[in-house]
Amino acid sequence: MHTLNGIFTQQTNFYGGNDVFDLMSQYGSPLYVYNEDILRSRCKEMKNLVTYDNFVPHYSIKANTNIHLLKIVREEGLHADVMSPGEIFLALESGYTADELFFIPNNVTKEDMIYAIEHNVTTSIDSLDQLKLYGELNPGGKVAIRFNPGVGAGHHEKVVTAGKKTKFGVGPESIPEVKKLLETYNLTLVGINQHIGSLFMDPTPYIQSLDSILDIARHFDDLEFVDLGGGFGIPYHKQDGEARLDIKSLGEKLDEVLHAFAASYGKKIQFQIEPGRYIVAESSAILGAVTATKSNGGTKYIGCDIGFNQLQRPIMYDSHHDIELYSTEERAAVSGPFTVVGNICESGDILAKDRILPEAQTGDIIALMDAGAYGYCMASCYNQRFRPAEVLITSDGSTKLIRKRDTFEDLIRNMI
Ligand SMILES: *Cc1c(COP(=O)(O)O)cnc(C)c1O
Repeated sequence: MHTLNGIFTQQTNFYGGNDVFDLMSQYGSPLYVYNEDILRSRCKEMKNLVTYDNFVPHYSIKANTNIHLLKIVREEGLHADVMSPGEIFLALESGYTADELFFIPNNVTKEDMIYAIEHNVTTSIDSLDQLKLYGELNPGGKVAIRFNPGVGAGHHEKVVTAGKKTKFGVGPESIPEVKKLLETYNLTLVGINQHIGSLFMDPTPYIQSLDSILDIARHFDDLEFVDLGGGFGIPYHKQDGEARLDIKSLGEKLDEVLHAFAASYGKKIQFQIEPGRYIVAESSAILGAVTATKSNGGTKYIGCDIGFNQLQRPIMYDSHHDIELYSTEERAAVSGPFTVVGNICESGDILAKDRILPEAQTGDIIALMDAGAYGYCMASCYNQRFRPAEVLITSDGSTKLIRKRDTFEDLIRNMI
């Protein structure tokens, strides 16, 4: 195997010495490949973010719910945030216990709430209406509330989840009504949480948002925890030298705020964060086969078998994924620009536009990097294409199949 432009995978020994052509012939194409060491090291960074000792990072499992990965994350000492009964189920299946989970739903049904109550999972409520419903279902119980601190951040308008233009959270002006509902149903407010958005590369808005959530916290006396949200970004443009989020500086600033709050609140309450992407994104690449190259109307296309059903981020958020190419022979330096497209019958099925890449040929393997978060979990069978297998490169370099690829039977299983 020749890596034509694989700086990242070479530097990290991403494939653990395995030949990608062997992986593809063994597990099928396309294929999500995960690296255990990278996953573990991201968990450790979050675990050691601050010196404040009552600090528990929760992995927001919606980013990737493969239970084999969840087991690793749990081994590293992270708790988990879940968004739905399905995620509660998967977290429990992977070995998490109810007290390690935090349910943060949005506009859910009574049945969803009952599922969480029956499984003893602490639930965060996102509106006064839902607080009333929760009170009716679980009077005398414990509850958390998601507040909207009025500051948002993120890489795309679809992922900014606080501020004036989103559906999320309860505004601070509703605190009196919140208190009234808590009293009516004899609920104890054990925690409050926020999540301002996804993929910030500059810690400033995150740190700034803490003032308002901590001001809100001071209105309540029985809090056991405050959850500050996720959204920690990763550098998707590594090939252009994009810098990493400065975790050290973020951690130091955060630490100061946490110690100061504990001193003024009079109790070392627990602080939580809820990163999703930061934990898993960089641990995975999706590999596909280059199936055709051609020119149409002056645009040079690289066609491959990774459709937007396998990796939705480019079409959903205009996201960039770095691309690596592997071939069986050495080939000349970069050229292009190329537009990289998949095999779905829609002209929007574009993975990357105007990329300078090595000259690809049919039979090469193409990899979209940093695909571990919001990759497989958003995949569908659109065009009745199978969702890919997932394989883990373990710390000793051996490979472990952690999900089989779909089969024809999967396409028909629920049609009775
Ligand atoms: C999606 C989500 C997260 C995780 O976001 P990342 O950007 O992946 O870190 C955390 N908390 C809540 C409430 C979310 O909805």
